[in-house]
Amino acid sequence: MARYTDASCRLCRREGEKLFLKGQRCYTNKCAVTRRVYAPGQHGQQRKKLSEYGIQLREKQKARRFYGILERQFRRYFEMATKKKGVTGENLLQILESRLDNVVYRLGLATSRPEARQLVNHGHFTVNGKKVNIPSYLVKVGDVIAVREKSKSSPKFKAIREVTEGKLIPKWLELDADNLTGKVVSLPAREDIDIPIQEHLIVELYSK
Ligand code: SF4
Repeated sequence: MARYTDASCRLCRREGEKLFLKGQRCYTNKCAVTRRVYAPGQHGQQRKKLSEYGIQLREKQKARRFYGILERQFRRYFEMATKKKGVTGENLLQILESRLDNVVYRLGLATSRPEARQLVNHGHFTVNGKKVNIPSYLVKVGDVIAVREKSKSSPKFKAIREVTEGKLIPKWLELDADNLTGKVVSLPAREDIDIPIQEHLIVELYSK
């Protein structure tokens, strides 16, 4: 399975925004976006006026990077979104939010999406009682996501809960913090998704 392995903070600096890829560090003054407010690389400090295409491309890259998805998979999600009823851009965000690694992060069972992806990969979660180690698994309404029984006592989850305690859980999810279990109450509507993405720009880009 291909994945991005270069420095995460470069991605935030490229987009000029915090993508929250490093858990707690993102909330401290060690965050690279606050320390170096320019794009990475030799020409990062040059001012460039973006074309219409450039603006659309950056928006798509930002969305991909928020969720940690490579181009081919992202394109596949877009195709899925066009086939669903409703507004394509909103469908796309709904699909992205429904990924198991994102749900784990949203429930506060990981401090960042990359960490959630790793925890899912390492087999720490079940969906409806069955072990699922595929971060791209798309959850459905009624699904119950839980930390596996033998992982519950792990110091890792204790440490994560200490960091994420009090985190606002989106209203489409329900968390039972004592049992490290969450439930999908509904699929997220656009107003439930707080990431700063203008999805119509992605639709325009892919519709060219
Ligand atoms: Fe991005 Fe977090 Fe790195 Fe800041 S610390 S640049 S938000 S990954």
